[in-house]
Amino acid sequence: MYVTEYDLYAVPPRWQFLRLETSDGRVGWGEVYTKWHFAGDSEPATRNAVDQLMHQYVLGEDPSRIEYLWQAMYRSSFYRGGPIHMSAIAGIDEALWDLKGKAAGMPVYELLGGPARDRVRLYEHVRAHNGNDVTDPAAVAADQAREHVERGFTAVKLVPTGGLELIDTPAAIESARDIVGAVREAVGPDIDVALDFHGRTSKAMARRLTRALEEFDPMFVEEPATPEHGHALERIAEGTTAPIATGERLYTRGEFRPLLEADAVDVVQPDVSSAGGITETKKIADLAATYDASIAPHCPIGPIALAASLHVDAVAPNALIQEQVILEDETAMGYVENDELFEPNDGYLELPEKPGLGIEIDEDRVQELAGTNLAFDRSPGHRADGSVGER
Ligand SMILES: [Mg+2]
Repeated sequence: MYVTEYDLYAVPPRWQFLRLETSDGRVGWGEVYTKWHFAGDSEPATRNAVDQLMHQYVLGEDPSRIEYLWQAMYRSSFYRGGPIHMSAIAGIDEALWDLKGKAAGMPVYELLGGPARDRVRLYEHVRAHNGNDVTDPAAVAADQAREHVERGFTAVKLVPTGGLELIDTPAAIESARDIVGAVREAVGPDIDVALDFHGRTSKAMARRLTRALEEFDPMFVEEPATPEHGHALERIAEGTTAPIATGERLYTRGEFRPLLEADAVDVVQPDVSSAGGITETKKIADLAATYDASIAPHCPIGPIALAASLHVDAVAPNALIQEQVILEDETAMGYVENDELFEPNDGYLELPEKPGLGIEIDEDRVQELAGTNLAFDRSPGHRADGSVGER
């Protein structure tokens, strides 16, 4: 059996589904994170990377040799790593695992050693600052959190600030306290509330904000520093009892290692579709476990990426909770024939039972919507003086 062809479909809202086919007619699916897709008349950079990797290393090869192919795609590229290369490898890796599971007649997690748990806990997003006319973000956030809990979720996550100054005012911190306090009051102590600083905080602001929000007992504080300032996390972590999380912008074990060695993180958040797929994310989970850190895989994209994440969550003893956005996206289930896979029960998903990733893709629907322009406006966030800040 060898890989005969592939298609990479660009579909709404801004996802890329990779379809591999083999000489014996099997089909495997992966999801390639859409990155560097700012201009409407040019393709996302990850598409180009997939084309190159497929032609150079995968077409004509035996898809069951996943580790070999992964090493070939990674190691043969002298300029390796980073968001584009690792996302392209990730989508291909997921499709290879899907093929392998389908060939074996087993879910991928069985091939990875079998499940460590019965089901996977999810969290839902609270979007306090969405929309320009939000005059009372604390009330909006509290209402959303309450709704999620009524739907059965036991954990929510929110970004408690808009863009921040390098050193911001007490009022900026007070606003974040209002929002997080309102959410905590709305959901009570039985629900977990995670906070995502989204890299918006300088290290000085991260220390102040973490301490100011500590009394609301966050499940974790995510990205209190941008990836290039991972060195700052150790001191941030020392100054708080709140668990520190990061990792959606880190791509290999090597990038997580220094944070774990410094005991600067409690929760790592690799994205299966960004960090080299199931193969590398499983290894990141194992590395984290040796430092008593858990994983909470990042996943703000589509259903194939989420299905792939569930297999890592299933086998990683240290999987804490899974991110997802597809339950709030009307288009997502249109691609999935067995959408019961993504019906949460008390805020948990059952493990997929069908072979491979366990997701059945509606190919007609994918082809119907393929060719979508994935351009994404990512204009700069500005500080008060007009300089560019984080957003
Ligand atoms: Mg995040």
